[in-house]
Amino acid sequence: MERIRVGIIGATGMVGQSYLRLLRDHPWFQITHVSASPRSAGKKYSEAVAGRWLMDEEVPAQVAGLIVGDADDVGTAQGRCDFCFSAVEMEKQAVRELEERYAANGLPVVSNNSAHRSTEDVPMLIPEVNPGHTDIIPFQQQNHGWDKGFIVVKPNCSLQSYLTPVYALMEAGYPVESLIVATLQGVSGAGYPGPASIDMIDNVVPFIPSEEEKTEREPLRILAAVENGKFVYDDSLKISAHCNRVPVIDGHTACVSLRFASGKPSLDEIVAIWNEFSAEPQELGLPSAPQPPIVYRSEKDRPQPRKDRDAGRGMAVTVGRLRECPVMDCRFVALSHNTVRGAAGGAILSAELLKAKGYLG
Ligand code: NAP
Repeated sequence: MERIRVGIIGATGMVGQSYLRLLRDHPWFQITHVSASPRSAGKKYSEAVAGRWLMDEEVPAQVAGLIVGDADDVGTAQGRCDFCFSAVEMEKQAVRELEERYAANGLPVVSNNSAHRSTEDVPMLIPEVNPGHTDIIPFQQQNHGWDKGFIVVKPNCSLQSYLTPVYALMEAGYPVESLIVATLQGVSGAGYPGPASIDMIDNVVPFIPSEEEKTEREPLRILAAVENGKFVYDDSLKISAHCNRVPVIDGHTACVSLRFASGKPSLDEIVAIWNEFSAEPQELGLPSAPQPPIVYRSEKDRPQPRKDRDAGRGMAVTVGRLRECPVMDCRFVALSHNTVRGAAGGAILSAELLKAKGYLG
């Protein structure tokens, strides 16, 4: 099968590098274009990342020699790729405009940036939770007069750990009324070089700018219904978030207490729901879909970032410590890999879903 040509906008950054690693042997996608700021443009990729390559493996040979384009140069991208992943870090309005120019020029964009997460016709995908939100794409194209291009975003990395297990319970017939979540987020979530080491060693920082707002707001968009190209929100779920930065390199942990709206499953039932959970990416056999998507660990002291972040090649959510809650109904701990599932890997899975549904190539 001829692979679809992919461009990475912001290819030199931490998330951009992660795309190169994860797409190295991808069966459907092949990186044919990389772009970044004018600081990197015009250099060979291997030269542009010299001294700041963060992955454990070497720069993939098929990308090392590509000349880095200027992210602003949509025309060049148009000739070299069929769709793009966006991993640029710029002022939000500039990101919005840049991604819209790509879409207007016929290039679908799957973005890691938060700039378009509240745009009313842009789907924010967790493929196991809301694959049907791709239905909004034709409406988005119609709204803008775009032909082949469109924009899809992935949500904030803080909620990747807990939303899929919570959704599994909702889908099994146990709607959730309220949820309190305390996150323990790895430093790589702040990008490279991240917080100063002297702030993180022997410490926990109980504040991550805008993170609690995103953790409370984005699930409502992801869980919304889509009717006639519009999101229909159900505001009955209330979320209260405490987001903390902790001295862990990769892995976001979430300690969750929740109350069901009506009916309450037993702990055994909850475990069975998680163990049996499967969704469209698994059924479609998407190349990056974890099998299973939720891994339940019965040990008293799991999940732990070092031991569990790589479950399902970094794409699965690991849950454990399920127990009764004297204040709410139940509580548990969930963990996911923030730079794989929470960044490039999650976006790649979204692109695979788009390809399977006929939106790419
Ligand atoms: P990063 O390491 O700072 O990389 C930023 C990228 O953007 C680089 O390729 C950089 O190019 C490019 N860039 C910066 N200014 C630009 C400009 N004016 N024009 C064009 N390109 C420009 O950031 P990151 O950690 O990879 O994050 C990328 C995006 O993903 C951000 O929106 C971030 O919020 C989001 N995200 C990150 C994580 C994570 O775990 N780190 C998780 C989820 C989402 P140069 O190298 O040429 O400067």
